Amino acid sequence: MKKILLILIVLTNTVFASLKVDTSYSTLGAIVKEIGKDKVDVVVLGSSKYDPHFIVPKPSLLSKLRGADLLVINGAGLELGWLPPLIQNAHNRDIKNGAKGFLDISHSINMIDKPTSVSRAFGDVHAQGNPHYSSDPHQVIVIAKAIANKLIELDGENHTYYEKNLANFTKRWTLFLKSYDMDAKVCRGKKVVQYHELYNYFLKRYGVESVGNIEPLPGISPSSKHTLELIFKMKKNNVKTILQDVYHERKTAKFIADKVGAEVKIVPHDLGSVDKSDTLEEFYNTIKDQICQ
Ligand SMILES: [Zn+2]
Repeated sequence: MKKILLILIVLTNTVFASLKVDTSYSTLGAIVKEIGKDKVDVVVLGSSKYDPHFIVPKPSLLSKLRGADLLVINGAGLELGWLPPLIQNAHNRDIKNGAKGFLDISHSINMIDKPTSVSRAFGDVHAQGNPHYSSDPHQVIVIAKAIANKLIELDGENHTYYEKNLANFTKRWTLFLKSYDMDAKVCRGKKVVQYHELYNYFLKRYGVESVGNIEPLPGISPSSKHTLELIFKMKKNNVKTILQDVYHERKTAKFIADKVGAEVKIVPHDLGSVDKSDTLEEFYNTIKDQICQ
């Protein structure tokens, strides 16, 4: 009897020791795991194989949101096309915008490409600035701190656990960045064209010049007029690299590459979207290698 009771106590503790954390994307999920470790159960809502602006809002995501103690989002409009109706229909007060269990990481980030006036010059999907800040490995520490603060706020009893994990992770990541930045020196001065402006934070950090985009505006499909102008611009600037993600059509990039003698590089936009991008280190190394080699 005593044994059974003991097992029950252990089981109950194991079950209730975890905070259920939902994140919109895989990179955020991996950072939550680094800080929360055994104290969190992480669910990633949006598969990294799809366009982060337009994840399919499957009904199965509702039950995941219903059981969550914390929802961590990228913010800056990246989830606007799919997540708000899901949050609305999940009826979980704890994770609604503004609730204690809601964390918008973009509030901790220095956003770039912010529109200076109210116009659609940056397209509909980047109306609040460029939301793809996680392409820059230096943002990882900023994200980790924001997550640690939120976990401590929700689960103060375990604050030393989260603080220790944050300290260890920061130490490991700082070392990683040191050699990463050294290696990334080869990127400086390189010229590239992107399909969608997914890598602006990386390009800015490491001095890569973005000469143009296959999309005329973020979220707008390529037109033949724009494609011909881009080919002309690439020839004039001697651009030999096109950055392509896994979820947009590849025909346009191939067509342009054939015309100008450029190479199409498949670059991960989120953890797990391509081979060799399953850990944070692999993900950032592959971004660097694909863009700069
Ligand atoms: Zn975008």
